Amino acid sequence: MSVESRADNDGETQHAAPNFLRNQIRDEIAAGQASTIVTRFPPEPNGFLHIGHAKSIWVNFGLAEQFGGRCHLRFDDTNPAKEEQAYIDSIREDIAWLGYEWSGEIRYASSYFDQLYAWAQHLVREGLAYVDDLSPDEIREYRGTLTEPGRPSPYRDRGVEENLDLLERMSLGEFDEGAKVLRAKIDMAAGNINLRDPILYRIRHAHHHQTGDKWKIYPSYDFAHGQSDAIEGVTHSLCTLEFEDHRPLYEWFLAHLPVPSHPRQTEFARMNVNYTVTSKRKLKLLVDSGVVDGWDDPRMPTISGLRRRGYTPGSLRKFCDMTGVSRAANVVDIAMLHFAIRSDLEDNAPRAMCVLNPLKVVLTNVSADHSESFEVAGHPARDDMGTRRLPLTREIWIDRDDFMEEPPKKFFRLAPGKEVRLRNGYVIRCDDVMKGDDGEIEALHCSVDFDTLGKNPEGRKVKGVIHWVSAEHGVPVEVRLYDNLFLEEAPDRDKDADFLEHLNPESLVTVEGIAEPSLAEATPESRYQFERVGYFCADRHASRDGKLVFNRTVGLKDSWAKIQQKQAQGAQS
Ligand code: ATP
Ligand code: MG
Repeated sequence: MSVESRADNDGETQHAAPNFLRNQIRDEIAAGQASTIVTRFPPEPNGFLHIGHAKSIWVNFGLAEQFGGRCHLRFDDTNPAKEEQAYIDSIREDIAWLGYEWSGEIRYASSYFDQLYAWAQHLVREGLAYVDDLSPDEIREYRGTLTEPGRPSPYRDRGVEENLDLLERMSLGEFDEGAKVLRAKIDMAAGNINLRDPILYRIRHAHHHQTGDKWKIYPSYDFAHGQSDAIEGVTHSLCTLEFEDHRPLYEWFLAHLPVPSHPRQTEFARMNVNYTVTSKRKLKLLVDSGVVDGWDDPRMPTISGLRRRGYTPGSLRKFCDMTGVSRAANVVDIAMLHFAIRSDLEDNAPRAMCVLNPLKVVLTNVSADHSESFEVAGHPARDDMGTRRLPLTREIWIDRDDFMEEPPKKFFRLAPGKEVRLRNGYVIRCDDVMKGDDGEIEALHCSVDFDTLGKNPEGRKVKGVIHWVSAEHGVPVEVRLYDNLFLEEAPDRDKDADFLEHLNPESLVTVEGIAEPSLAEATPESRYQFERVGYFCADRHASRDGKLVFNRTVGLKDSWAKIQQKQAQGAQS
């Protein structure tokens, strides 16, 4: 990631929205309450990262960077049954791609298992933890409800020696999964249910991707998280609001264990985006059920999916900046995401022409051996992007949508007897419409006015400009037109309904296009503005029949659609 685009996005930019965490840390530093900021991003390696995680990454890495601190990457790997090395690899790759560097080595909560176990023994010795033989269902029942206090387990008053012995035997695999747990001894009547003797360790006879078969018991999230923060000297443990009720427990552990530091937990609201889902479980379901083509399908809100779709790291950071950080739950309009990438590509994507719905045009006054090409800018405002060559030949392709046999008013494109300019080339006039037996238009016969290169034709005003590609030199490509994956703004609003019912059947439409010759050189992940069409990104895989594939990132703002809308409204009123 280049230095300019970083500076542009991690500081406050013209689009920056309020960020209470940034203000809070700034105030702490001003008041001398904080000096070196240490944050951490703690993913569970049980899925790919999504746009919500991008927010958390931006929060944690961004604040550390802004205040000259450090941010750790720590895998919260306490649940081996759901975790995989492949997820670890994808998460590292995504964070690096976003342009962030974690401080030091990658960390794992599992590296602290020895220390956590020693601290569990410490709590037992202090009379603050006990081994419970109740079953998971019984534990739930004894815990009580929001309105009723819990009841103590009959095993709550076991002696220290017995607890230590049972804990050790649990760790050695002497008991079955679910037979026993280690619980903190806090307060079964606490108003906050998290303090009603929370579980510290569960028996799991699972192979762990980092620690192998060493452990038969695994710490709970609550027991691992805060202490891992403390071991690492994290100063600001920033997490999402669902952990607010866990904060008293987080603090209880820090107060009752000989931890080397006292991090502070602060919560912020999760970021949700409409027309998509950001639950790993649901994303995994989309993958496992084959609705999408893997975690990095360009319709997925995963970082790897957005990357394949054509999003840039800078655009995702800008999006995070635009949407800010608050404690109020919020749903961000996906249009903001589109805005963030469109404005980036507007400035940074080279231009090219590609016809998505080809209609043959024969230029009747251009000879079959005509040899001419136009040298045109890669980007109208960026000399550094060089030039490209557009060969003109007797036969060219234009887009079917750019021709109408009976055009309405304000259709400034091609129609019988009408003129239009070929983008970067001459003005042509449509003389004849060639139809097949079925009445379908097969080709147009047009003539070129050779006196119009870079200038207006004599005495006529030609308003329309259309894109085109030489039939002889054009490159056949597969173009994937992506749209929102869901038709419903909040596909998972109704908890009981199946969110898959709201899938957009047209979230992917594949067409065979013809691209200008320069696109034959497109490298994977290179992004273009297909003039008059939208922004596209070269996929890293070829199509089944070996063609280059371009994924539509986002459309251009479509003024014609607006005019049509206005006309339709006008007709109604
Ligand atoms: P789960 O724990 O159910 O697997 P998760 O989304 O919480 O899912 P984690 O891997 O635990 O996944 O998340 C890592 C970090 O990213 C956590 O600190 C979490 O709070 C944060 N995070 C996850 N989703 C969002 C979101 N939508 N907005 C902001 N932060 C998020
Ligand atoms: Mg989580």
